[in-house]
Amino acid sequence: MSYARALRCRKCGQEYPLEPRNMCDFCLSPVEVSYDYKAMAKSVTRDKLKEGPLSIWRYRDMMPTNGDEVDIGTGYTPLIKADNLGGELGLNQLYIKNDCLNPTYSFKDRAVSVAVTKAREFGFDTVACASTGNLAASVAAHAAKANMKAYVFVPADVGPGKLVGAAIHNPTLVTVDGSYDDVNRLCINLVQKYNWGFININLRPYYAEGSKTLGHEIAEQLGWRSPDCVIAPAGSGLMFTRIWKGLDEMAMLKLIEPVNTHMYLSQAAGSSPIVNAYEAGSLHVHPVTPNTIAKSIAIGSPTDGYYALLVARQSGGGACAVSDEETIDGIKLLAQTEGIFAEATGGVVIAVLKKLAESGKISKDQTTVAVITGAGPRTQDIVSDVVHATTVKPNVEAFEEAFLSPV
Ligand SMILES: *Cc1c(COP(=O)(O)O)cnc(C)c1O
Ligand SMILES: [Zn+2]
Repeated sequence: MSYARALRCRKCGQEYPLEPRNMCDFCLSPVEVSYDYKAMAKSVTRDKLKEGPLSIWRYRDMMPTNGDEVDIGTGYTPLIKADNLGGELGLNQLYIKNDCLNPTYSFKDRAVSVAVTKAREFGFDTVACASTGNLAASVAAHAAKANMKAYVFVPADVGPGKLVGAAIHNPTLVTVDGSYDDVNRLCINLVQKYNWGFININLRPYYAEGSKTLGHEIAEQLGWRSPDCVIAPAGSGLMFTRIWKGLDEMAMLKLIEPVNTHMYLSQAAGSSPIVNAYEAGSLHVHPVTPNTIAKSIAIGSPTDGYYALLVARQSGGGACAVSDEETIDGIKLLAQTEGIFAEATGGVVIAVLKKLAESGKISKDQTTVAVITGAGPRTQDIVSDVVHATTVKPNVEAFEEAFLSPV
């Protein structure tokens, strides 16, 4: 059985049973899963964790689920020492957490594995989500594995690669004529009418818990310690807060020393409401209308923006936005130094990392982890200019004529 004991309002502390619910009835703030950490600490040890499966389920004692997991092989992705990229940026202790290597090619599988497991526990036969693309693919894949029905809602301009990535699992695919924020509003209205498990609405507290495993894994893979700096992207801001919570839980359970990690939040300049608030020294996140190639994190009204801002501030980290041009350069730099082809969100993270290294905010011997959350191949069009091929006839002379200077 799980050590989860209640849902708790993040603002007023009001508690609710572990049920499908995303906010507090009194203050409309988000609720989160709260645990009996004392009991959890008795059962979770380094040795026990090390014996677990090489997936997010090695941390199942820290999850709100009660067994019978919907598992498509998510998690325990590589933490790579990035010496080539580190060399370029003057960082000696740089690591890449490569979450492109999840089953549906993004970190979303972590959150969705937990939320769909919970949906099945609650007895839902249908799951649904509002998505910028990656979540739709992950929900559709997990629904296929769990033999559940899926309705996935995406903005109509999401791009062909992402549509296929979801549609291949045969969900009901709904393309909405509007932005992600419009899609999200539509789904909030549908929650009240349909008895479905909306992964990022009424199941959002459970979805959030899956993302914590990024923090758990980073700490374990670094040899049971928390890094000095983490650079991670933010759309709604939820994942960013949960990496922090994952690290913090590891310390709470005495698996690592107390956490002193500077958390740096990354957004695209064309959709940077959280960074704007950070730069204005404010805790009020004002909505924007997104316009960026980094569509996975193009969220104008970030649900967890306030909490992400708190983590960036209180951890002594920061928040930074980069242009689409810098993002493209970031994608190429990562691919050409470390052999990892990320989607635009990864380009944003690398571009922010570069800025932080160049400005000296991150120093050369700090252990730094850049979190790469999604793979490039579904959105190849944004970097299609890299292809410079010369066609030759299939003989040695033709090849040498085209490519080797004559002797
Ligand atoms: C969804 C997503 C994010 C951001 O997640 P939030 O929790 O909404 O901030 C980051 N990267 C990728 C690739 C995503 O799909
Ligand atoms: Zn409340």
